[in-house]
Amino acid sequence: MPENPSKAPSLAGQIHYRGCNLCEAMCGLEIHLDADGAISAIRGDKNDPLSRGHICPKAVALQDIQDDPDRLRRPVKRLPDGSFETISWDEAFELTAAGIRNVQKRHGREAMAAYLGNPNVHNYGSLLFGPPVLKALRTPNRFSATSVDQLPHHLAAYFMFGHDFLLPIPDIDHTDFFLIMGGNPAVSNGSLMTAPDVKKRLKAIRERGGKIVVIDPRRTETANLADEHHFIRPGTDALLLAAVVHTLLHELELSPSTAWADGLDTLRSAIHGFTPEAVAPATGIDAETIRRLAGDLSSAPSAVTYGRMGLSTQAFGAICQWLLNVTNWLTGNLDRQGGAMIPLPAADVVAQRRGGSHGRWTSRTRNLPETSGELPVAALAEEMLTEGKGQIRGLLTSAGNPVLSTPNGRQLDEALQSLDFMVSIDIYINETTRHADVILPPTAALEHDHYDLAFHALAIRDTARYSPALFEPAPDALHDWQIYAELLRRLRPKAPIGERLARWVTRKMRPSGLLDVLLRTGPYGAGLLGLRKGLTLKRLKAQPHGADLGALKPVLKDRIRTKNRRIQLAPELFVKDLERLRAMLEETIQDSDELLLIGRRQVRSNNSWMHNYPRLMRGKDRCTLLLNPDDAAERGIVDGEPVKVSSRVGALEVPVEVSDEIMPGVVSIPHGWGHGRRGARLATADAHPGASINDLTDHTLIDELSGNAALSGVPVRVQSAPATSDRATAGRDSRAEASNAAGG
Ligand code: SF4
Repeated sequence: MPENPSKAPSLAGQIHYRGCNLCEAMCGLEIHLDADGAISAIRGDKNDPLSRGHICPKAVALQDIQDDPDRLRRPVKRLPDGSFETISWDEAFELTAAGIRNVQKRHGREAMAAYLGNPNVHNYGSLLFGPPVLKALRTPNRFSATSVDQLPHHLAAYFMFGHDFLLPIPDIDHTDFFLIMGGNPAVSNGSLMTAPDVKKRLKAIRERGGKIVVIDPRRTETANLADEHHFIRPGTDALLLAAVVHTLLHELELSPSTAWADGLDTLRSAIHGFTPEAVAPATGIDAETIRRLAGDLSSAPSAVTYGRMGLSTQAFGAICQWLLNVTNWLTGNLDRQGGAMIPLPAADVVAQRRGGSHGRWTSRTRNLPETSGELPVAALAEEMLTEGKGQIRGLLTSAGNPVLSTPNGRQLDEALQSLDFMVSIDIYINETTRHADVILPPTAALEHDHYDLAFHALAIRDTARYSPALFEPAPDALHDWQIYAELLRRLRPKAPIGERLARWVTRKMRPSGLLDVLLRTGPYGAGLLGLRKGLTLKRLKAQPHGADLGALKPVLKDRIRTKNRRIQLAPELFVKDLERLRAMLEETIQDSDELLLIGRRQVRSNNSWMHNYPRLMRGKDRCTLLLNPDDAAERGIVDGEPVKVSSRVGALEVPVEVSDEIMPGVVSIPHGWGHGRRGARLATADAHPGASINDLTDHTLIDELSGNAALSGVPVRVQSAPATSDRATAGRDSRAEASNAAGG
């Protein structure tokens, strides 16, 4: 319990209901308040129609975030010695506007870049008020966490369905056969599949006679709940999916109706040669198993194939997501109950946004393509370090820590030091924001209202829930949206009168007013004038547990946004990229000292920013290297000892965990760790800082089609660390020197 906990006296003794905004699962919470209005307990809301009472250990950390003494509550500016000094909001905005203006005046508008971290998507104020600021920067150098995570999903959706947010979601509450590749929903509670309480939902599949198969280089927590688990060599899932599609088309000779799909013949010929026998040696999965999987997918009453992080973050991520959608379509499971379905959210982000784009411009140094207005973040550091016209000289970050979350983070750490100006909208001084000249801290989650604009559009059931603020923010605190609105005003003081009027109106409406419009004009809405019986914000507020809008329904035919309103099964770009995949069939797998590195997600951690909370950090060091017993024996490594892991770009030390849950030839380090670098305050004094897997991942390894970072399957060497190694030191700043030397 914090010494001076935040209080909501007006709610003393009551229960505050809200959605947890920490991860995609958006669980409903009951926050119990004591007689003083301080939090006495955080529990799952059993009446929430989606999460049904589920929460994970991270939910209680909401209180820790609220009362964290390390959280910034006032703007700060960096002093020459690297320390930070508190300043007024006015000074902070003035410094920011001047810093951005100077960079763009001296070096051109493209010299200013922006990076948005994942928490922006969990904050509807940022989603609604951030884009105009990015637009005002008028720079092609926009980056986000999307390209280390999910860009292939969006690219496949854009080319196949005409909108980058028309993402098919597994209807897991009704499916009879669930094939999970490179995903671990038992820990994530679903990702690009908002599925709180997923363990119960997975168990229910088996209880109703269905089957779950997991394909993953690690026997994950999800695999332990499945009927079958198969190891697969990292980076070869696209081959496996190609063989499944080949089997469906050329052996089972499926020929579904093409009444609203184009390209089946092109697909049939393009997939030629990807037989189960051809891909078996590379994937490590035998031909018979591949055939059986294809047969099960086509014969089950309903089936869905789902692939997540492990598939998206590899050299063929986009092909994976394309073939996965194709598999669901071929087996008759796209847009049908129990298959892969498109949600119909109350505030419809698909209807409100343009469909996306690809390749309108490329990055300066490596010609990586833009997608939906963003460049791949794997190019961010080199765009700062490579001299010449268009070099990035300034950066705005919002709720992100790319030094820990993007490939070759040490290179970015170094690049940030070279900038003329950097501003961060963030509640922490972390490994990235420690380089900022100015940090603008918004309110914490419990101090503002909340609506999951993005994740209702990715959920396994259509629901809607509005959460009011719990605590009053300090009188001089600003919400994210207010920071964005003020930044915009200062960046464009002489904007045309129409723009200034629109700004004034939206600022007056606040995010909640804009949400009301979205709800009223959405598919369940009452209309702008409220003439129908449907949803308005007021009516949603009257349902504190959320509104249940029903199971997913077949809606793709109505929502598809391709020009001819038909599914594109064989987009040219993807078909062409199959040739790159075909070359992989010819590659011989060489015996070498190298192992392939993959990440893993942990239930008590959330990307790179939840390692500051005592309740989550208790216990042993969880930032370990998983190593198969055969590989350990070969190297004379014993369980628990520190090992040195090195890649082309860097090296680090972590304790080893010898386990047969990881397949031979593969090692795993959880992502998000590596805290406590000089100047960064994150990580409590007694917490394990861990090591950042992204000190090893390589910015040159990408999916060429989408530009997404290929974080899975990075070649590394593992050896016992020198006996004199001091892990506590190695975990902190000494690693910076060690791996900077090797960094590219
Ligand atoms: S699973 Fe995610 S949304 Fe649910 S309580 Fe945990 S962190 Fe919050």
